[in-house]
Amino acid sequence: MDMKNDTISASILSADFSHLADQIKEAEQAGVDWIHLDVMDGHYVPNISMGPFIVETCNRITSLPLDVHLMIEEPEKYLSAFARAGADNITVHVETCPHLNSTLDSIHNLGCKAGVAMNPSTPVEAILEVAYLLDLVLVMTVNPGYSGQSFIPQTLGKVKKVRQLLDELNPAAVIEVDGGINNRTICQAKEAGAGVFVTATAVFANPLGISGGVKELRGLLTAR
Ligand code: ZN
Repeated sequence: MDMKNDTISASILSADFSHLADQIKEAEQAGVDWIHLDVMDGHYVPNISMGPFIVETCNRITSLPLDVHLMIEEPEKYLSAFARAGADNITVHVETCPHLNSTLDSIHNLGCKAGVAMNPSTPVEAILEVAYLLDLVLVMTVNPGYSGQSFIPQTLGKVKKVRQLLDELNPAAVIEVDGGINNRTICQAKEAGAGVFVTATAVFANPLGISGGVKELRGLLTAR
């Protein structure tokens, strides 16, 4: 899978799970690029969401790449389960990985793209020594845990700093922004240097509907 800019990664955290297949198919037809799965364990973040079973379910529903974001403690214990379930990208939080080099190697050895996520309070320098191993850097633009939170504007400066660091050390890596991305924030995030946009409520709970929401976001990205 290519890491390209202007990628919309639709998070099913805001989907209606009683109509999950229909909602994912509608998002796919409307032109989202990836399906994003927010995995929460109730320890690293206060909420509990989904596990490999839902990844496997999504893998049967769609051929879109599955972008798995692990907000869990000891993610290294679960990498092979998520890879087996059909994950294409696996992103772990830098705050949860004391042996990040080996965790990223494990993700690559499973045949997946490797990402590192950072909370709003984590300094950019936390990824300095592993930058060369990364396919993507996920900058949290809210504190992780729940869908529907508002974007923290100070994180835009951080996206710029991460882009500068990657331009120096690993220009092919993309920046993914996650949290509060909608029709008001997506262009600011793009201008700061983000290439992948996680959208949950802006796709699955949009007053314009799923197709209308995706078309609006795509229009904003291509207008820039
Ligand atoms: Zn996420």
